[in-house]
Amino acid sequence: MFRYGQSNFTWNGTLRELEGSWTERGRPRMTASPSSSSGLEVLLSTLQNAGDVESTLNILNVLDELLSAGTDRRIHYMISKGGSEALLTALVNTGRSFSPNYTLLLPLLHLLAKVGHRDRRIGVKAEDAGAALLTLNLLRHNVKHAGRAAACLWVIQVFSSSVSTANLIGANHGLDDIYRLIPQYTTKHLHAIKAAIDAFAALLCTKANVCSVVSKGYISGLLRLYEDWHCKQTQHADVAICHSLLRCLHKVTHSTAGRQAFVSQGGIRLLYGTTQTCLLSKGLESLVEPSVQLMRKCLPKTPLPLTSDRSAYTFLVPGRPDVVPDMDVEPDENSEESDDEEAEDNKDADFDDDLETDLNKLRIRPDPDRPKELLPQYSCLCPELSHDFQELGLSSEPEESSTSSSSSDEEAVLLSDLRVHSSNRDRGSSSASHQSSPSSLETDPEGHAPAAAQLEALDFHSHSSILSTSPGFRTGVGQARVEAPVGQRREDQDEEEDADDSHHRTMIDRLLERHGSCIPHHEPKLYCAAAAKTNSIPGFSILAFPDFWGHLPPPGHEPMSPRKPNIQRQKVFEDAQRFLTTDGIINQVVFDLEDSSIQCPSDSLRFYSKFECGNLRKAVQVRKYEYDLILNADANTSQHTQWFYCEVSNMVADVPYRFNVINCEKSNSQFNYGMQPVLYSVREALEGRPHWVRTGTDICYFRNHFCPARGRRRTTFYTLTFSISFKHNEDVCYLAYHYPYTYSALKAHLKVLQKSVDPAKVFFQQQVLCGTLAGNPCPMVTITACPASRGWKDMHQLRNRPCIVLTGRVHPGESNASWVMKGTLEFLCSTDPVAQSLREAFVFKLIPMLNPDGVINGTNRCDLNSEDLNRQWCKPDPVLSPTIYHTKGLLYYLNSIGRTPLVFCDYHGHSRKKNVFLYGCSVKETLWQSGSAVNTVGLKEDPGYRTIPKTLDRLAPAFSFNSCNYLVEKSRSSTARVVVWREMGVLRSYTMESTHNGCDQGIYKGLQMGTRELQEMGVKFCHSLLSVTKDVKTLYSQRLISHVGLDHKSHNLSQGPRDTAPLGPNLSQGPRDTPPPGPSLSQGPRDTAPLGQRGHRR
Ligand SMILES: [Zn+2]
Repeated sequence: MFRYGQSNFTWNGTLRELEGSWTERGRPRMTASPSSSSGLEVLLSTLQNAGDVESTLNILNVLDELLSAGTDRRIHYMISKGGSEALLTALVNTGRSFSPNYTLLLPLLHLLAKVGHRDRRIGVKAEDAGAALLTLNLLRHNVKHAGRAAACLWVIQVFSSSVSTANLIGANHGLDDIYRLIPQYTTKHLHAIKAAIDAFAALLCTKANVCSVVSKGYISGLLRLYEDWHCKQTQHADVAICHSLLRCLHKVTHSTAGRQAFVSQGGIRLLYGTTQTCLLSKGLESLVEPSVQLMRKCLPKTPLPLTSDRSAYTFLVPGRPDVVPDMDVEPDENSEESDDEEAEDNKDADFDDDLETDLNKLRIRPDPDRPKELLPQYSCLCPELSHDFQELGLSSEPEESSTSSSSSDEEAVLLSDLRVHSSNRDRGSSSASHQSSPSSLETDPEGHAPAAAQLEALDFHSHSSILSTSPGFRTGVGQARVEAPVGQRREDQDEEEDADDSHHRTMIDRLLERHGSCIPHHEPKLYCAAAAKTNSIPGFSILAFPDFWGHLPPPGHEPMSPRKPNIQRQKVFEDAQRFLTTDGIINQVVFDLEDSSIQCPSDSLRFYSKFECGNLRKAVQVRKYEYDLILNADANTSQHTQWFYCEVSNMVADVPYRFNVINCEKSNSQFNYGMQPVLYSVREALEGRPHWVRTGTDICYFRNHFCPARGRRRTTFYTLTFSISFKHNEDVCYLAYHYPYTYSALKAHLKVLQKSVDPAKVFFQQQVLCGTLAGNPCPMVTITACPASRGWKDMHQLRNRPCIVLTGRVHPGESNASWVMKGTLEFLCSTDPVAQSLREAFVFKLIPMLNPDGVINGTNRCDLNSEDLNRQWCKPDPVLSPTIYHTKGLLYYLNSIGRTPLVFCDYHGHSRKKNVFLYGCSVKETLWQSGSAVNTVGLKEDPGYRTIPKTLDRLAPAFSFNSCNYLVEKSRSSTARVVVWREMGVLRSYTMESTHNGCDQGIYKGLQMGTRELQEMGVKFCHSLLSVTKDVKTLYSQRLISHVGLDHKSHNLSQGPRDTAPLGPNLSQGPRDTPPPGPSLSQGPRDTAPLGQRGHRR
């Protein structure tokens, strides 16, 4: 009796032991020369030529005996020795005769199935030997012989691993013959029936066969078979048959026609019903997953309920046609792959094609992208070099000097604002001003003095005098939305709302008096003033409450959310229900960014997103407590959705609301691995808890059945689903992908910082790098220590401090980058002794937000020109990518005056990986990794690029050295990191990636990142810079820093989160805010060696 299973084949024949002959052919012989024929080869050769039944049978028995013991290695060895061919020849020789000898054929077929299963080329070999159709013929002659039929079917299944063989069998009506062998429920010949279904499924590996099956209407038959077997099944073998039938259905629904037939034949309803039964029975559990996946796959594609896939926000780009048509193009593979994370994944998967292996491109510096004559204009961005520090003599009056030193910069900002305001109304002329050099921004040739005076007159009080609640205000906390000042409002709104102004002003003022201003480095009124000058495409007139009011990290850490078992299955099941029944389905649009006239039921949630960084496009109430949310694509594009930020109100407390963000684009997400979105409650804030908190249960991320509204381009969307039970009735809450950080917040923050520094000690100067496309000033900050005196020596030291250039937020959806930058900025302005040392050692040039327009308008990836700005660095366009053009200009300038930055780092966020890590650039590592033949022995490379990551690994709890890499990819050749390294010759040129989720190592293992941890990262990055200074004065600080470098990596969570007290955004305490000393502190004197010289621990 034979039994054949995929991994279980036993031959119960009676045979002599032949082990000796096998061991002789152990592994060492695998490479034996062809001339020395082994015992196996002799057997195989005899098999093909044996005349008599007896000896053939004996050989088959011996072979089977040999293959039944041991591992697959024996089978592979036999294949390498021509075993498959020998068996096929024997099969053809035996099976070709008029009345084949089944005593021989059966063991032959079994052995062939077993060997063929491991031979990837078995299909082709069978075709060559003429065995494929012969086996099909044998099957036809033996349909009444269950055992013989099963043996043929197993072999056909194995042969079908080759597309051409499967097509050959299909073309010869094999599919039809096999299909006819699958009966309705029966208790007989189950193994033969299963063999038939499996062979049928195997043949469906080709398009032609699927087409043929669909056109012949077999799907309906398969569904009826499944239904029949499913409801009558009684034993384990029946479940296996159900599985096989599901596999057939999966294969036939690979085609669009197949899916359509599946749906029209009631497939979804049928599976929905059977799955419910399965959920009730333990033994049938295993059928649930494939059924649910099949339903998900076949749910009819539903276009997003939008009139156009393009963003609701359109921006007229200078020099571009007015109306950009909807692109009727195929998926732009490159643009999708250009995504940092996707490309990362590719790299993990051995895609090394992308590595730059051209030694010239790696080593030779390209010519500058502009003439030298354009560089001197950037001298104004190095105020520390020309500043005479007159005020040092008047150090008794620090306040005075502060105002005088900064007022001119203020003016520059103001002037460029005005230009922006005026140009914004007339976009045609705005393009001209964008080309302006940074210096020309400071002095406005056309002179807007009257307007400037007017704006300046709007001090904070007059700003707040026109604060107003939004029209949607209904609840007791409706102050959530605060009107921005007149300058930004649409004309039509002014009249109807002016009457309420004074009332609202007093309300806001009262609230602020009672609750406000508790947040370090945040001043609500300053925020209002900053927001008033921010230019947005839609002309935002409303502030989101959290941005205005401010955020404090909640006390304690927030662990990653545990994933519920089978959560995805449950959600897909619920989605299938929407398709099958109208019971309880509401499907009503309750918010539309483009249509403010939407009326929604009094008991539905209210949504809103027309504020800075907001990007909800549409909300649809699906069921009473379930909403589909559609995100706005990046301005001027129809893609890049991921970031979200919106307001939600009118909720009932303690009811789980399910939210589905249905037009996500990435194929996977950290939302499947413990990440939660963030929520801010206005009511909580007013009660003294102004926290963005991680929130949501039942979170998962999966492919859905939606397609673009106009059926073009991308065909796949993903759903992010989560449930939230709100704490308060009638609250106003905000939901976001990650902790929001607006452009206005940056401007307000820089003002606060400027006011906070002691101008006698800290040289802090904010300037405008350039205007953006929409006319927003892009701030740049210079921070260094004031010289001790105006003496030659001190001034000389100041002017020879190495530069460190830090940039961030080129990708608007990566708000974590801004929080890290906030930590860096606050630390550098602080009184911490390490910060003081760093200021004395370096000149810091920070451009905290390279993409203000994207951030303001809630885009995820692009600027208003629909480009990824971090792919423009090779040759940035001065008009279209001004921030990149001028940042690069500044770097060229520094280069030209011999002040090439010592360190460059661009802060980013990473949505698919955990921890924080750096990408750097190394010629040698790139060549090694690519397997390049270039001999790297003679290549000289300063290994200094590893110093900072190594130091960070010791200092920063969230940092993971193991996630860093230093590879130069072709696809990244136009990113900041690579261009600054290659063109400017900056050895330490990095991208710092901070996770949106949390950490899987160090003391934060299992915890999500909050703003406290992100800001801490910004501080630690500064700390790590001590490792690259050669300044003797900073040695003292290096000793200090070694205390910061607690042994956090060896700690684990069993000791609990290290610091649960709210640190507040004020991280300026430096070493003093370090964790309570762990055991390592009690182990005697600490190692005080300079950090850079310590070995990497892991
Ligand atoms: Zn990025």
